[in-house]
Formats: sequence, C-alpha cells, structure tokens
Amino acid sequence: MDGSNISWLLPVAVILYSIYRASGSYQKGPQDPWLKVSLAVATLGGGLTLYSLPLMVVQLPGWDTSMLALLFMFGFVLITFSVFLMSLWNTYMCESGQLEVAGARAESIFFACDMMSVALTLVSFTLSWAAILLVSDLKPNIVKGASGKTFYDVSPFNFYMVIISLAFLLLSIRARRKLVTTLILVPQRSQPVVLPPQKSTGASYQQIKEKKEIKDSGLLLTSFTGLALYLVLLFVIPASLDQLGYNLAFLVWLLVTFYFVKRYMEAPMSYLVTMMSNLLSFYCPRCQKKIEPFEKSGSLLEHFINGRLSLKGAQERVIVAHYRHVHTEYEKEIRDLQKVRSPLLNKEQRREELKREYSEKARFLAEKDGLLKEK
Ligand SMILES: [Zn+2]
Repeated sequence: MDGSNISWLLPVAVILYSIYRASGSYQKGPQDPWLKVSLAVATLGGGLTLYSLPLMVVQLPGWDTSMLALLFMFGFVLITFSVFLMSLWNTYMCESGQLEVAGARAESIFFACDMMSVALTLVSFTLSWAAILLVSDLKPNIVKGASGKTFYDVSPFNFYMVIISLAFLLLSIRARRKLVTTLILVPQRSQPVVLPPQKSTGASYQQIKEKKEIKDSGLLLTSFTGLALYLVLLFVIPASLDQLGYNLAFLVWLLVTFYFVKRYMEAPMSYLVTMMSNLLSFYCPRCQKKIEPFEKSGSLLEHFINGRLSLKGAQERVIVAHYRHVHTEYEKEIRDLQKVRSPLLNKEQRREELKREYSEKARFLAEKDGLLKEK
C-alpha cells in the first residue's frame, strides 16, 4: 500500500470510529433530544481530535497528514459548538418557562448569565473557525535553518494552542464551578478535623460540607497550562535540535496535546452538570442561601441528567434531603443509632424507618415554607 492510499484511508477510519463512539454515547445520553444531540456532537468532536492526533504525528515518506490535521482542529470546533447548543437550550427553556426553579431566584441575573455564556461560546466557536482557516497544518515541521542545521518548528501548533486556550477560558467561565464526578474530600485547613470516637460510617451533612471542597473542574487550570506551555515552547524549543532532541520534543508535544484534548473534551459534560445542578438548586428561606443538590446524592444528579428522574421529582428530592439533614433531628437520631449496640440488620432497618419518618417531617416543613405544594 503506498502513501497516498494511507493518506485517505486513515482519515476515513478516524471519522467512522468517531461516529461509532458518538452513537454509543448518544444512546446513553440525556433524554432531552436537544441535549442528547449536543453531547453526541461533543463526543464526535472529541473522537476526531483524539484519534487523529497520534496518527497525525507519524511521518512516513509520501504520507500527507494534512487531512488528519484538519480533522484534529475540526474536532475542537465541534466540542465548542456542542457547548453553544447547550447554552441555547438552557436559555430557551428558562425563558419559555418550561423549566422552573424552586424558591426565590434572581431571574434577571440568571438570564444575563445565560446570555453571556451564549455570547462567549459563540466567540470561542468563531475563534476556532478562524484558527482552522489560518492554520492549514498542525503537524510540527523540521525546518532547515540558515546555518544548514535542521530545527523543530512548532509555530503552527503554538498559534492554535493560544486560540484553544482562549476558547477554553471563555468556556470555563460557566462550567468551572464544579465537576461532580471529581468531588474530593479535603480536610479544612483552618481547623483540625476531629474524628468521632466510633468508627465513622456516615459523616454528618455539616461535616461533609465542611470537609468537602468541591474541586475546581480544572478547566481554568488547564487553559492556563495551555498558555504557559505555549510560552515554554516558544522560547525553549525553536532552537537548533539534533535528532534525539527533535524526537524528545515530538514526544512531549504528543503527550501534552493528548492531555490537553482529554481535558477539553470534559468541557461539555461539566457544563451540562453545572447547568443541571443550577436547575436543581433552590433558595432555602431558613438558611437564607442557595442550596446546591446534596453532594451525597451524586447519583440524583446523574439520574436527572440521564432522564431517569423528572425535573420536578429531582427538585423535590433535593429539597426534602436538605430539610431532613439540616432542619430536622434526623442527623442526631442517626448518630444516636450508631452508638447503640444492636445487630447490623436491625440498624439498617431502623435507619430506613428514620429516613422515611424524617422525610415526612422535612416535607411538611418545606410545604409550610412554600417550597413544595401540599399533597
Ligand atoms: Zn436550609
């Protein structure tokens, strides 16, 4: 098989495999058709970018990799486009009144935020297209310098890196707040964490709230890494390089880009999670603050995103869980129960009873506060 055949076969293989992966995630995606399509577009874009990358850097005689380079960049555009679709969906649904949020909410501020995110994703989208038009080829080149020595020219890649970093920064404004899948437990710095004497099976809601710091999604960090990387490459690498140095630079280029693409692919998902988490938040009149979906009920958000729970049902659960844990004696009862010596099975049964009992009380309080309609 000669080079020109591979030049066409490989891009087609990348496209087909990306479509195959995207259709797989389409079936598992959210129930809302609009969001389903948005996420599938992101998966398709991620696939194009990710699979063309390792093939793109292999240079065989007669092998033209510019098609792969184009797919690589087009993937980035699709990812950004998917966030743009989601922003439109969010704005439309909120404004048409199809999505209602429980409790008091500064609607105008939310509307302004949504409009801003639509504008920002549009800007990133345009920037990505501009990059495609301006950068014809992304693969690093070996250039013969004036002295006759060869050196590694990374300028096209650097340029695209800046554009992508910028797009990433813009995207992350809305999406950076949290990525529920990367929640980690961080002990509070100011106070030493006092562990309860008994083996702690379930830390209390307040304890978790104090200990758990929602890890920043890392999107912002990644975009800064991209910019920093650009500067390093710009000042360090375009010096004369021998063959070993060239291969090393090549390897670094590959690894860093791979990492960068993987993080960028998370943007639409974290955007979706942030958006859904906003929908499930409510203003608690007793705490006088906005309450996010209870962190321990991570699966609740997941069920909601995948359409296994209706918006109304999920909102209700978030409110009842918050009231049960914070505004009733539930936590104290559970702590007392842990101190009692009794067979594990009985404890579990009692725990379930308490949960049911206090959920009723919590619901009653929330109804009195006007957050839930009386049954
Ligand atoms: Zn409260």
